[in-house]
This record gives sequence, structure tokens and C-alpha cells, in this order.
Amino acid sequence: MSQHDIVVVGAGPSGLIASFEAARRGANVLILEEDSVVGKPVHCAGLVSVKGLSLLNLHGDYIQGSAKGAILHSPSGLQIRIEARRDVAYVIDRAKFDQTLAKRAIEAGAELACRAKALKILWEKMRVAGIEVTLNGVRVEIKAKVTIDAEGARFKLLREAGLNPPKLSLLYPAAQVEVEGADVEENMVELFFGEQWAPGFFAWIIPHREGCRVGLASKVGMAKTLLERFIKKHPEASTKLRRVKVKEVSGGLLVLGGPAPRTYKEGFLAVGDAAGHVKPTTGGGVVFGGLSAKIAGEEAAMAALRGDREAFARYERRWRKIIGGELKWMSRLRTYLSSLDDRELDHLFASALKLKLEEELAIKGDMDFQALTMKKLLKAPRLAPLLFRVAMGLAIETFKTSSEVRGEDSSTAVENV
Ligand SMILES: Cc1cc2nc3c(=O)[nH]c(=O)nc-3n(C[C@H](O)[C@H](O)[C@H](O)COP(=O)(O)OP(=O)(O)OC[C@H]3O[C@@H](n4cnc5c(N)ncnc54)[C@H](O)[C@@H]3O)c2cc1C
Repeated sequence: MSQHDIVVVGAGPSGLIASFEAARRGANVLILEEDSVVGKPVHCAGLVSVKGLSLLNLHGDYIQGSAKGAILHSPSGLQIRIEARRDVAYVIDRAKFDQTLAKRAIEAGAELACRAKALKILWEKMRVAGIEVTLNGVRVEIKAKVTIDAEGARFKLLREAGLNPPKLSLLYPAAQVEVEGADVEENMVELFFGEQWAPGFFAWIIPHREGCRVGLASKVGMAKTLLERFIKKHPEASTKLRRVKVKEVSGGLLVLGGPAPRTYKEGFLAVGDAAGHVKPTTGGGVVFGGLSAKIAGEEAAMAALRGDREAFARYERRWRKIIGGELKWMSRLRTYLSSLDDRELDHLFASALKLKLEEELAIKGDMDFQALTMKKLLKAPRLAPLLFRVAMGLAIETFKTSSEVRGEDSSTAVENV
């Protein structure tokens, strides 16, 4: 048995940012990672906002490219081009990014154990008191004053702690390939909508200096099969991708159901994908997970070093203050968007084009704080008809889903990756 101030399960960005924050405050931190190398395998498209990385105060040599905006393709081929004058997003090498974060956490004093799989929570009365783990094949008990659950989109420890996961019906399987030889525009991300390509979500093409990431997520069907079909058959995308050579195949789950209803317990904090700190509109979780992880690390250190039992509840209050409203609004928008059929999506595209929405978005858009963007757009009276339609759709979907019960089985989503 070993004793630590804080044990962190998962060396993804959320676990590593939380570890850094706690370790630099003097806490004795142990990070457990079940894989043998941090950052691999990669399950991410690596698109993060310039603003988000700066909010997280992160710098490193993991940037592979940048984007000034996006081209959105409707099911029938309408195009909305949103292009800012400056870079709004970076394309990062996720393996390098995670490894840089690991190095930073270790330099701050954290200890990292790879091939260390957390098995179950250790309890002391009603309090989480650490983790039982297999370390190089041996079962070990690790006692800690605080356990941080950053295990990603699995929710195993969260459930074991007696907490409900994010809405599982909005856990979408995703597939992605890293390719070279695509005939695409530099510095522009492309998103393709349509029921027959990516039902309930969209497909993406993200160019970077060394190639391109092509992927999709969907609410039904096998993501990998849908992706193969998209690359070969989509009228527009297939011409851009006809000469590509696939270098790497990956997949994963997008957590689109908003945050878990509660993310703490005495001795326990959940963060990142494990807590649903992911934008339900796009599936991007690096920035919101990172912002919550900073708070988790700070509050975990307060609990472990000063015995501050209020720190657990304060963690939840603090992250909700920053991203809670955004996540709530975006999960309603996701439910609404996922419910639209091709005809309705095309209609929305046509209205947006007619009202020149792209011009406003290029100036006022924020990749992360999308509810804030909506508020800014509301100040442009000419957009009122479109925004009113979306608002009505949101209201209807919210009403329809308000009686939905939580606790659905996530196994179907896992099988469909
Ligand atoms: C296909 C795809 C594309 C995406 N694209 C983007 C994007 O472009 N931009 C963006 O911002 N987000 C994107 N995301 C989401 C993003 O990848 C996640 O939000 C982000 O990785 C969450 O970080 P995390 O640290 O919470 O979890 P993770 O990165 O999932 O890390 C969890 C870690 O915990 C480890 N672990 C799990 N269980 C255990 C255990 N029992 N014991 C020990 N270790 C364990 C795992 O091995 C893993 O290393 C994408 C996701 C997918 C699936």
C-alpha cells in the first residue's frame, strides 16, 4: 500500500493539467495511466481554439497547423463559409500535446505511473479514500486524500462513486483517419452534414501541415463504415479525398450530453470527459476539460494540504460558473440539431445564407463560448427570424426531452465506434 495526497486516474489533458496545478502547490501527486505511453493511441482531431489554449496558458511545439475558419456543407450541397481575418484555431498533435503536459506535471513534482490500471475505488466509511490498481500486473492499494477521476468517456469510477454520468443517449461513436494527399483548402476546416453521411452529427476534414484528419461521428450506425462511405461516395468530399493514402485509423466516443449532474463526493472529483466537460455541439473537450482541470487541481490541493472539506463542493461551483451555462445551452442546441432531418437542415442553411450569418459569425464567433456568441448575434436585428426559429426548435426539443430518464446503457455506443 502507498499513501499520496492526490491520486489522478488518467493521463489525458484533464488529468495532467489537474496534476500540474496540484503538484505546483506542493501536493504529493501520483498519476495512473493504463496505457504504456502517454498520448497514445490518439482519439482526437486536435482542433482547439487559439483563445482556449491561451486561457489555459499552454505553449509548446505541438502545433501542426491553424485554421481561419470553416466551410459548412449542407446535405444538398449549400455552403456557408465563415472566415475570420486571423487564425481562430490550432491543429495540434495530440500525442505531443499530452506528452508536453505530462512533462510539465512531472517537473512540478508529480509522479507518473504508466501501465497502471485503476480497478476500483477504496472506501473509508462514506468517503473515497483512494484506488485499487494493477501496477505492472500486481494489485496495489493506493491511499489518497483526494482521488481525481480523469478516466475519459468511460464513467466507471464516476458510477462507482455513486454519481450519475452525462446523458448516455448523446454519447456518439466517432471514427477518424489521418491521411495524406487530400486536395483541400489550407487553413479552412470543412464540416459536412447529412443523414446518409453522419446521422445526427457531421463529418469533418481538418487540414494541417503534414496531412489531414478526416472523421465523423453519428447517432446511429457504425462510425467506421460510415466514414469509409463518406470518403468514397460523398459528392463533394470524395473528389477532395480521391487520392488520399490512409496513415492511421482511430476512433472514440464523443460526450455530447452535457455535464454529469454532480461531479464530486468527499475525497473525489471528476473532471474532463469523465465529468462531461465537453462541448455538446462539436465534441471538443480539450479546452473545457482543461479549464475545469485547473480548478480541480487547485481545489484538490486545498483539500489535501489544508484539510479544507469545502473544496470538493467549491470545485463544482467554480467550474459551473465558468462553463455550466454554456454546456447547458449547447446540450439543448445539440439535441435540437441532432433531431433535424436533411430538409430541415437545408432550410436552416438557406436562411443563414440569406441573412449573411457568416459575416456576423466571422466577427463575433467564439468556438468555445457559443452561448455568448448567440447573445452577441441577438444584437443584430436582421438575424432575428433565424434565431427565433432556432430558439423555437430548442424550446420544443427541451420540452420533449425534459422527461427523459438518465442511466441509459452506453454499450451500444461503444460497439459502434
Ligand atoms: C474522434 C474524436 C475527435 C475529437 N476531436 C477533438 C478536437 O478536435 N478538439 C477537442 O477539443 N476535442 C476533441 N475530442 C474530444 C477530446 O479528445 C476529449 O475531450 C479529451 O481527450 C478529454 O480529455 P480527458 O483528459 O478528459 O480524457 P482522455 O483524453 O480520454 O484521457 C483519459 C485517460 O485515462 C486513461 N484511463 C482510462 N481508464 C483508466 C483506468 N482505469 N486506469 C488508468 N488510466 C485510465 C486513458 O488511457 C486516457 O489516457 C475528440 C474526441 C474524439 C473521440
